[in-house]
Amino acid sequence: MSIRLLFAATAARWPVYQPLLESAFARHGLIVEWVTEGAAAQVDYIIYAPDSALTDFTPFINCKAVLSLWAGVERIIDNPTLTQPLCRMVDTGMTEGMVEWVVGHVMRHHIGVDRYVPGLNGDWDRVIPPLARERKIAVLGLGQLGTACAQALAALNFRVEGWSRNPKSREGMVCHHGDAGLQLALSEADMAVLLLPQTPQTDSILNAQRLALMKRGGVVLNPGRGPLVDDDALLAALDDGQIGHATLDVFRIEPLPPEHPFWHHPKITITPHVASETRPITAAQVIARNIAHGEAGEPFEFLANPAQGY
Ligand code: NDP
Repeated sequence: MSIRLLFAATAARWPVYQPLLESAFARHGLIVEWVTEGAAAQVDYIIYAPDSALTDFTPFINCKAVLSLWAGVERIIDNPTLTQPLCRMVDTGMTEGMVEWVVGHVMRHHIGVDRYVPGLNGDWDRVIPPLARERKIAVLGLGQLGTACAQALAALNFRVEGWSRNPKSREGMVCHHGDAGLQLALSEADMAVLLLPQTPQTDSILNAQRLALMKRGGVVLNPGRGPLVDDDALLAALDDGQIGHATLDVFRIEPLPPEHPFWHHPKITITPHVASETRPITAAQVIARNIAHGEAGEPFEFLANPAQGY
């Protein structure tokens, strides 16, 4: 018997995903049939992106799981109509992309690329950067993406201190948790990388008091979610020199409104939510494997926990 699937994402994604999903399902020996929202009661699984029009999950009475194409699930996890299990996207392609963005932007600040890009205009002014082992980097969030980035930075010899909700142990770095742990992770940090999910608990987690814990002139990198940062506190810390630069990929409102002060701030670099994208080729395999688990009566992978909000 075939498995009935609803692809709930913006129309432009369909021609990209359809062939990749179909070949991934075939590799698992699964026969699938695509159905529309009108046949809600027949749907076995929903493949979902928040850019779809789907907001009411009530009619999907036989749906066994909703599989998100996005890693961050803040736009769906508290939907009161969602009673089906929700699986986050954990995609090797997305992880690779995030590691590349984080390492690239950390290295820009570490070796001082900005000194040289405009040119030295004949001024043989030698500024020797410290070694990575002399710089402390706080990585807030030690999940799929935070761990991969922290490990890549540790492999370059940075002194990495990670922070998560639950106690963790990760080779090559110091791991902290809880409120006191956050203080330790940020204390005298040269850079802070934010890879936490957006939840009520993480809103404005990087506030004035925590920015003040970092080394003077430190760098903030936020590829997580906009609300992790208290925008006004960041602007004040940049203006006063406590923070030397902020590289921001995500914002409270996206696209970032034209009048927002971040756009023209000389100490802010903006990237337009490109730190990492779900890669259809690897994501299709993740979705097919997870549905194969479900059909075999095995637990789903990467289940989000509504009580935690991620
Ligand atoms: P995970 O769920 O795997 O990891 C989340 C981490 O955050 C975990 O270590 C978790 O702790 C920690 N955490 C959550 N809440 C708290 C809290 N209140 N206090 C302390 N630690 C907390 O997520 P991913 O690594 O896959 O993704 C992280 C985020 O990255 C996503 O939620 C998304 O917002 C963002 N993202 C951004 C992209 C971009 O292009 N800019 C692309 C993809 C994702 P614990 O381990 O103890 O549970």
